[in-house]
Amino acid sequence: MGRRKKIVQECEKLMDKPEQIRNIAIAAHVDHGKTTLTDNLLAGAGMIADEGEATRLMMDTEEDEQERGITIDAANVSMTHEYQDRNHLINLIDTPGHVDFGGDVTRAMRAVDGALVVVDAVEGAMPQTETVVRQALREGVKPALFINKVDRLISELQEGPEEMQQRLTDVIGDVNELIRGMTQDMDDVEDWTVSVEDGTVAFGSALYKWGVSLPSMQETGMSFGDIIELERADKRQELHEKTPLSDVVLDMVAEHFPNPLNAQPRRIPRVWRGDDELDLAHQMRDVDDEGEVVFMVTDISMDPHAGEIATGRLFSGTIKKGQELYVSGTAGKNRVQSVGIFMGGEREELDRGVPAGNIAAVTGLRDAIAGSTVSSVEMTPFESIEHISEPVITKS
Ligand code: GDP
Repeated sequence: MGRRKKIVQECEKLMDKPEQIRNIAIAAHVDHGKTTLTDNLLAGAGMIADEGEATRLMMDTEEDEQERGITIDAANVSMTHEYQDRNHLINLIDTPGHVDFGGDVTRAMRAVDGALVVVDAVEGAMPQTETVVRQALREGVKPALFINKVDRLISELQEGPEEMQQRLTDVIGDVNELIRGMTQDMDDVEDWTVSVEDGTVAFGSALYKWGVSLPSMQETGMSFGDIIELERADKRQELHEKTPLSDVVLDMVAEHFPNPLNAQPRRIPRVWRGDDELDLAHQMRDVDDEGEVVFMVTDISMDPHAGEIATGRLFSGTIKKGQELYVSGTAGKNRVQSVGIFMGGEREELDRGVPAGNIAAVTGLRDAIAGSTVSSVEMTPFESIEHISEPVITKS
């Protein structure tokens, strides 16, 4: 069996185990390293070829697959990651990093339960950092922090361990100040600040592919001093091998971000304004794969063969080929032509249905737009998304 088939089978198995699913977004101020980190995670999870092996396709050994090459549609990518002897399905939804992004980011946030906030160690928290943190918290999405470009502190700015530690502490303090300010009036959120001690902060270099967190340092025995020494000596490959960024970040995701079963009971009342006594409301809170279909579309993309693909989060029910579904704001129903999931950045159509708690890629929903609620019964749509206006940022 080809490698790709094996991964598909593994993903299909994980789809039915919501406790092993994490739906996440990576959010950052422009240029802080979101794209570089995403590539890193995919390569680390074996979903795309490592840099330097770009022509070699990792997804399969079968000839036609190799010839086809792979292009990553960064909007939606999925990967598997083993943590504490359990495999996890990690679905990553892209949040646009440009200025005019309010609605798109919030839409992406609605589909996920955890947001990895990336902050450049040199620049620190910036206006868009504040915006994305606000959007995450407003949607009931739990944050964790990755401080990127730490290589620059060491090699360019020549900082020693104390200066570096101080700088990282300052970044964490700034992000926590944002979180505290935004959550103090929320009654359903306990403490969502991030900390090194809790393991909700990691730092490293997406460019050179190394990363650390307190749990990872305890596991590998690497100290701050060791890291500085290797980075200064330009032994970045060794640093990457000793403490690979993708493992550190994906372990953090598996450990600290809620799975759909934990997240939906808390998030549904926050993001859906319908009658919470309805069966439908219970089914959404319970991630009931036998309930009515409730699918929130986050993104529409074009596939040269399949046509329009609606991607989004399935909060309840099981979405299957042939279903006739309502699309909010339009009359009549649309018929589902195919359903699939993402593997790496590629869409894989499945013969079976996709159950609640997953990110699904659906064709046939010709009336759907990003933001549509698609459902098997007529229902109150997910509230129209509140756009948070963004100050215009000029890059220096
Ligand atoms: P995005 O706009 O957040 O997606 O940022 P990118 O991933 O495109 O990165 C922006 C720039 O920062 C690119 O030139 C990257 O090569 C660079 N970059 C990303 N991560 C790192 C890092 O860890 N260290 C250094 N020195 N540069 C980085």
